[in-house]
Amino acid sequence: MQNYLTPNFSFAPVIPDRALGSRLWDTEGKEYIDWAGGIAVNALGHCHPELVKTLTEQAQKMWHVSNIYTTLPAQDLARKLVEHTFADKVFFCNSGAEANEAALKLARKYARDHYGPEKCEIIACINGFHGRTLFTVSVGGQPKYSQDFAPLPPAITHIPFNDISALEVAVSERTCAVIIEPVQGESGVLPAEREFLQTARRLCNRHHALLILDEVQTGMGRSGKLFAYEHYGIVPDILSSAKALGCGFPIGAMLTTDKIAPSFGPGTHGSTFGGNPLACAVGSRAFDLIHNEATYRNIEKQSEKLQTGLAELGKETGLFQTVRGKGLLIGCVLAEGYENQAAVLTQVALKHGLMVLVAGSNVLRLAPSLLLNNEDVEEGLIRLRAAMTDFLSGH
Ligand SMILES: *Cc1c(COP(=O)(O)O)cnc(C)c1O
Repeated sequence: MQNYLTPNFSFAPVIPDRALGSRLWDTEGKEYIDWAGGIAVNALGHCHPELVKTLTEQAQKMWHVSNIYTTLPAQDLARKLVEHTFADKVFFCNSGAEANEAALKLARKYARDHYGPEKCEIIACINGFHGRTLFTVSVGGQPKYSQDFAPLPPAITHIPFNDISALEVAVSERTCAVIIEPVQGESGVLPAEREFLQTARRLCNRHHALLILDEVQTGMGRSGKLFAYEHYGIVPDILSSAKALGCGFPIGAMLTTDKIAPSFGPGTHGSTFGGNPLACAVGSRAFDLIHNEATYRNIEKQSEKLQTGLAELGKETGLFQTVRGKGLLIGCVLAEGYENQAAVLTQVALKHGLMVLVAGSNVLRLAPSLLLNNEDVEEGLIRLRAAMTDFLSGH
């Protein structure tokens, strides 16, 4: 097939055509189990009937009015986010990068408003990922995503993830914000240690800096709680959400408190599409379907089942050295001798009817539907086992 898109993506050799729940069919009619979830987006699987209903109802009613107006769906979703988190105020945008862009801009402006322009330094983590805008690739700790786009925005310092003493050295009176992913997603499904996040919180308090948690990937139930910070006994000053927030309809959000929000006064920041009624209506319905006991119980149950099954497969084949993660964000670290083979393994899995992700070059990442059922787990493990055997026979 002729490809009319810019060559920045290397597309898989199959073309998805339709999907339902955790199953997907390509243009040839072949069936897949979807453990990739559109990169941790499809938290309620594909075409959830309640979301289809909400989307089509809103589509008949009103699509877009811009931020010259607010709408009931936008206020409705914002209220739910405020009522169930640390936050008092919400800014809507369309993606994770935009939510982080807003978070970083707000932190710089808040520090300038209250302490002056010298307080502008951002502390971030090596191997962190915060999106693909120029500011967010600069803050992200992976030079391969930023170096070719220099000159980059200044006053950004990177420290090793989970390195408490490096954090203590880096945070100072010049720091306006520390930004951390509670679980580093893109670079290897690596959870933050409790002491690391608690130290970040303490240092931010001491130096009047803001703690930004990037929960674009870990948020909206993925970790087994609404937001992953709930596992750590701390609250952030600013939090970014996207990916599962719209369960496949593009939407991002930046959450913050009444103390900080006033620095985003009228005209300071904006978005044409942010708060779009279609996106917010879907997000609001998705919120109810994610944030309830039955869903959290399922996440816990299937996470355990999946991690046990994966650890067994790893042991049996010698292909995984560890299985780690939180909730239904799971990483299988490839064993010695199979370094950098994660992408090859995803291609083999696809042949066996299973969609999985990589995280970095050395970790197989799973981010399935939070409504995954027993059969999706059991059949997926059978297909993964066949793929692993196939992979090893070609080795
Ligand atoms: C995916 C991701 C982003 C970027 O989100 P986009 O919607 O692709 O802009 C930012 N931060 C984290 C932690 C992510 O996983």
